[in-house]
Amino acid sequence: MPKRVVFTADALKEPFGQAMYERITAVGLPIEVAKNNRITGLRGADERETYRIAKNTLAIVNAPPGAFRLQPIPPSADWQMNLAEGCPAHCQYCYLAGSLAGPPVVRAYANLPKMLDHTIAYEGTFPPNKSWQGHDPNRPTSFEVSCYTDVLGIEHLTGSLAECIRHFGTREQGQLRFVTKYNQVDDLLDLPHNGQTRARFSLNTDSVARRLEGGTASVEARLQAMRQLALPRQSGGGGYPIGVVLAPIMPIPDWREQYTDLLDRIKALIDFDCDMTVEFITHRFTPGSKDVLTQWYPNTSLDMDETTRAEKRNKFGGTKYVYQPVDMKAMKVFFYEEWAKRFPNAPILYWT
Ligand code: SF4
Repeated sequence: MPKRVVFTADALKEPFGQAMYERITAVGLPIEVAKNNRITGLRGADERETYRIAKNTLAIVNAPPGAFRLQPIPPSADWQMNLAEGCPAHCQYCYLAGSLAGPPVVRAYANLPKMLDHTIAYEGTFPPNKSWQGHDPNRPTSFEVSCYTDVLGIEHLTGSLAECIRHFGTREQGQLRFVTKYNQVDDLLDLPHNGQTRARFSLNTDSVARRLEGGTASVEARLQAMRQLALPRQSGGGGYPIGVVLAPIMPIPDWREQYTDLLDRIKALIDFDCDMTVEFITHRFTPGSKDVLTQWYPNTSLDMDETTRAEKRNKFGGTKYVYQPVDMKAMKVFFYEEWAKRFPNAPILYWT
């Protein structure tokens, strides 16, 4: 629950913005309406205070025109479509650090239905990059909505994820993908998704989640939520295609034992046939993200020692620090083998 909710004037003119207004009022949160389209009062005396103020603020705004020009998002999906930017959780390795400008406020988009209509123009189009799904021109186009927020973490206040699921439930050539570290899925169970939404859960060992993923649901709660969404409708579930996103994978002491335990728990819970995939993402950071994260979490125990990492350059000259090739190889072999042993019918989409 944010401490402050503020709507811009234009956001409140949107019918979906008004629905959000009613939803937020119904949970008893007071709402401010800005006179114009600027959200002010987000800066504190230093970065720590700015972080605290911004993370406790939910702003309902209209997505800027640039948000309608969708960007490719390999290898996760074809296109990213953001229903919000900013996240209420406190992961000490947060992927958003350094990639979103300004205070880390959550901005949810009141003009979401217009953005969804706009995605129809992208159906049947594929970014030029080689994507994990290959180049079958007849396959549906996939849209990722979790690049810049945790969609389920704000759903109780926005209803945005349900709106997306309903939209893609009516599309044959468009599919939705989301990923979350939260667990409140009850309101998603009965939505008419028609198999067009893949609900993915970001999972890690209990020790990593407890140490580094502040404000999120426990791993056990996420596992139970994933099972609930995957269970067939006749068994009281949502009948969704699901996905495991193992991220960020870290070679912590005893990593083999700890990740084996996690895979065993997934196996024990997903004890029925369902459409499941997995994505493996190892921990990485950039000079920019390290700089922001050490200001946000000055006492973090997250390992961001460049001297122990391998340096990787992207085509734009940016640097990121990944694990050494020898560690990467050992982890990749382990995860591919252990996954295939337990889930021979659940494809591995990629390792990165
Ligand atoms: Fe960042 Fe994702 Fe954690 Fe949110 S859930 S704080 S976006 S890493």
